[in-house]
Amino acid sequence: MYCPYCHKPLTFVTNSRPTKGNTQIWRRRRCSNCGEIFTTHEIIDLSHLVVVKKSGEVERFSQAKLYSGIYGATIGSKMLNREYIVDKITREVNSEILFLKKKRISSQEISNLVLNKLKSESPVTFLRYLAYNKNPKSSKEIKKIISKYI
Ligand SMILES: [Zn+2]
Repeated sequence: MYCPYCHKPLTFVTNSRPTKGNTQIWRRRRCSNCGEIFTTHEIIDLSHLVVVKKSGEVERFSQAKLYSGIYGATIGSKMLNREYIVDKITREVNSEILFLKKKRISSQEISNLVLNKLKSESPVTFLRYLAYNKNPKSSKEIKKIISKYI
């Protein structure tokens, strides 16, 4: 890694620890050329993961997309610390996906993981996310889906 101060590739790690619920590793590095200290964050890359959509189409997993899907469901809700909670749920779902050790995952499995988190955070957001991602056709179907989470 290049030092951001003197641009020499002579840095070494002086300290590291897991952060953000063990999904990131924080590292303190020191440059042996100029002596400056800086921090890096190592994040597990899930871009190898293939998401199979309801339509059968496939796409690469995107944490940004996961975040914006959850964030979209919170718009209009009275949730406090919205950004913080959406970020937390995104990270938690991310690490649960990692734990599954899959190469392919369905978008439905991902939305189930999100719904499990949302049910305890915000009922309004839970219902909005459900309506958008599960696309229920009747109130009977809504009840059936909800009953799985309560
Ligand atoms: Zn340096």
